[in-house]
Amino acid sequence: MRTSQKITGVDLIELPTEWPVGPVNVFLVYGEKLTLVDCGRNIEAAWEEFNLAFNERGLTIMDIEQIVLTHHHDDHVGFLDRLVYLNPVPIYAHVNCRPYLTQDEGHFTSGTRFFTEFYKEFGIPEELSQDLANLKDWNQGLKNKIYITGEIDEGIAIPGLPDWQVIETKGHAQSHIALYRASDQVLLCGDHLIKHTPAGVFLEAPIHPETERSKPLNQYVHNLKKCLEYPVAIALSGHGEPIEKPHELISETLKKIDKRALRVKGKLEKGRMSGYELVRELYPGRYEGALILLASDTIGLLDYLLERGDIFSEQEDGVIYYFA
Ligand SMILES: [Zn+2]
Repeated sequence: MRTSQKITGVDLIELPTEWPVGPVNVFLVYGEKLTLVDCGRNIEAAWEEFNLAFNERGLTIMDIEQIVLTHHHDDHVGFLDRLVYLNPVPIYAHVNCRPYLTQDEGHFTSGTRFFTEFYKEFGIPEELSQDLANLKDWNQGLKNKIYITGEIDEGIAIPGLPDWQVIETKGHAQSHIALYRASDQVLLCGDHLIKHTPAGVFLEAPIHPETERSKPLNQYVHNLKKCLEYPVAIALSGHGEPIEKPHELISETLKKIDKRALRVKGKLEKGRMSGYELVRELYPGRYEGALILLASDTIGLLDYLLERGDIFSEQEDGVIYYFA
């Protein structure tokens, strides 16, 4: 557990995951209500470490009065149902967490349909697009349906946390929010910013089927710039070390995104390509096992270039082709 960083009224609890990103950070916020921000992975080692952290503070998990979620990913909601089974406290989260927390079969079915279509448009051969869509892991590992008590979003106050404001930070996830305390410029940024690795943006199926898909990288860039408008002395991330100069990290991140987008534009200057052709060009010999992630990442860069007017697209036989 990391204890070097002392932020008034906030404790960081580091919990193990078995994922490459490393441990996940959850937070105890001592507001008017003792608030837990995020839960760890649903693995025994994380649950034990979590309980131990409470013991060390002279608390138990029964002292938690409410839970706030930064987003719906497994490493942030993992043992949520185990926790609320024992201590059924209010849960505050973005409305887009809902289908994942309730394990909504309808969303997963329409999501599989969405990704089958998306992969086809991306130029992935039809026989492979269905398989890829089926491979997508919808299961959050929750045994019980979890219902959000209060939906939070930008400008909505969380009961029991009057010092903290919600900032919508979609990009990494469509349910992503951050919490900001103006008095000492602390940002609980979830996975919006991670010091040791790019946070990653992920294409998600629309919550309402048949509506336009999100453009996660464009949202991410927009929300990085939004965070530049807030004075932030320290950002406490969902993973890794606290970020002492978050604005510098944001500027570096924006530059890296630009650089990666320009590389894509360079490829398209040689001729039009589908997303799939582009992935094969960018990651020769190593795209096959990681196609879901690479498609998500590449469509983000293409959306970004399209929005800037740097590239164009045209559709032919159900496949979208891009050119510069
Ligand atoms: Zn995470």
